[in-house]
Amino acid sequence: MPTLLCVPIFVEDSGDDPIAAALADAGEAKKKGADLVEFRIDRFFSGSRGDSEDAFAVARLRRLLGESPLPVVLTCRPTWEGGDYDGDDADRVALFEKLCCGTDAPPAYLDVELAAYTRSANLRQKINLCVAHPGQRRGVTTRLILSIHDFEGRPGDLDRRFLAACSEPACAVVKVAWRARSLRDNLELFEIIRASPKPVVALGMGEFGLMSRVLAPKYGGFLTFASLRDQAATAPGQPTIDDLLGLYRFRSIGRETRLYGVIGWPVGHSMSPLIHNAGFGAVGHDGVLVPMPVAASDRDAGASFTSFKATLDALLDEGSLGFSGASVTIPHKENLARYARERFGAGRAVDVGGAANTVFVDGDGAASTNTDAGAVVSLLGERWGDSFTDRRVGVVGAGGVARAITAGLAERGATVVVYNRNIDRAERLAGDVNAAGFGGRVITAELSLLPRGCCHGYVNCTPVGMTGGADALGMSIPVADLRHVDGETVFFDTVYNPVETPMLAAARGRGCRVIDGVEMFVRQAAGQFELWTGEGAPVELFDRLCRERLGVG
Ligand code: NAP
Repeated sequence: MPTLLCVPIFVEDSGDDPIAAALADAGEAKKKGADLVEFRIDRFFSGSRGDSEDAFAVARLRRLLGESPLPVVLTCRPTWEGGDYDGDDADRVALFEKLCCGTDAPPAYLDVELAAYTRSANLRQKINLCVAHPGQRRGVTTRLILSIHDFEGRPGDLDRRFLAACSEPACAVVKVAWRARSLRDNLELFEIIRASPKPVVALGMGEFGLMSRVLAPKYGGFLTFASLRDQAATAPGQPTIDDLLGLYRFRSIGRETRLYGVIGWPVGHSMSPLIHNAGFGAVGHDGVLVPMPVAASDRDAGASFTSFKATLDALLDEGSLGFSGASVTIPHKENLARYARERFGAGRAVDVGGAANTVFVDGDGAASTNTDAGAVVSLLGERWGDSFTDRRVGVVGAGGVARAITAGLAERGATVVVYNRNIDRAERLAGDVNAAGFGGRVITAELSLLPRGCCHGYVNCTPVGMTGGADALGMSIPVADLRHVDGETVFFDTVYNPVETPMLAAARGRGCRVIDGVEMFVRQAAGQFELWTGEGAPVELFDRLCRERLGVG
């Protein structure tokens, strides 16, 4: 059975007509493609308030169930399990009975916490009266979901509780959700689905758990949740229904779907899922790419490498995932180069550059490369032709991207002048690349010497000019002051937000040729896509999606 898509809707005890508002949301969820809605009534119902008020509440909830455009999961989650209901268990069970039994429109599912269900024989008996099960003599159709939540992390006694839920004859579906602490939690959630004797919902909460929500159909999860509206701030990791169906192509995910990721920290704003998933759709590749946050700390490079390594080991070793590649971004590019050296050997350019941005898995196993360098070289090559031996390129910056680009340019025979604030770092870079004997020569110069440069092109590899950065309005290369510039001089900015940086605007103003950071982003992504799929990347689609996302489409 395909994994169902369920949209949770909180029914509020406020406003003119909360039932109409909830029904409108359910209608919207249906229009967007949901299979089920979960009506969370714990903000609406707070316990018995006397006969007439109870009867009024029951009438309104019956209307909600009767007019729902989609089958309903009914949930009244108590405060002690993360919900808003703080009344008596007996009151909510009495309500369930009125909504599930003897009505024309009972909910399809009733979600009850395992802890409440097993707490007293009396409560269990009353819940059993409301739901379908082998011993049921009443004509009820509602099926019972027994749920286990932990908002801190993996429950210590998970196995015992899971088995207890499975062994309840009245339980139709088991739900387990805990706050995922790392990507590796998802693997255990998938294992739970695979091993479960009953239909199961196994989801990770928080940003580390997104993978479990998107990949539920790959493992045969009973359902997954998606929000109607963006709740990234209050419920990180819960995708919107639009993202699940559009961005992640949820309906096309199956057992054979290959998994790709963008690994970084933070990684929530990466454009990689947007372009690669659209690209997979465009070329008919059965794959999905999800954000894979791997925690890192500026202060502890060793710990960052350890968590990167543990994650990549787990992804590569878990065969059922079909993990086939990743785009690796800040701050893990250096970690990938080190990991590659230790596990499968890095290429010479990755070794020298000290950074890699791509993992790919093919018939020969896993490997890594750096498509940033190839992107810059190929974009410049389109302006200059194949041979770089007579070209001088000014690289501004000496960080990860500058290293990769300098090694790539030297490999093509160019002379590279590395300008950097910290000249020692530039000299280390020049020394490493020159020692590799690529053919091209690398020299260094103080940033203050840029105006006297006489290069055929300049590449900014610093964050100067980047929106939200420390020097957003800054000029990474003082274009107006450069003495030897003509219409053929190329100015290349690796920064892509904004697309038109102050440096590029100045270069355009002087009539020079410019290459923006989106072109680089698209080109490096195309290199990854081709390694992963064996197909040419739909670069126009990539470019359009990126520019639209950045507000310049
Ligand atoms: P990194 O390793 O942190 O290196 C940053 C470099 O910028 C360092 O050399 C640093 O100089 C220099 N720098 C920082 N602030 C500066 C300032 N205010 N003035 C002068 N120099 C400054 O970063 P990275 O990983 O190489 O990334 C560099 C840039 O590349 C990023 O900003 C990103 O936007 C861009 N990028 C673009 C793409 C794409 O696809 N378009 C892909 C990857 C990266 P010191 O050595 O003196 O500290």
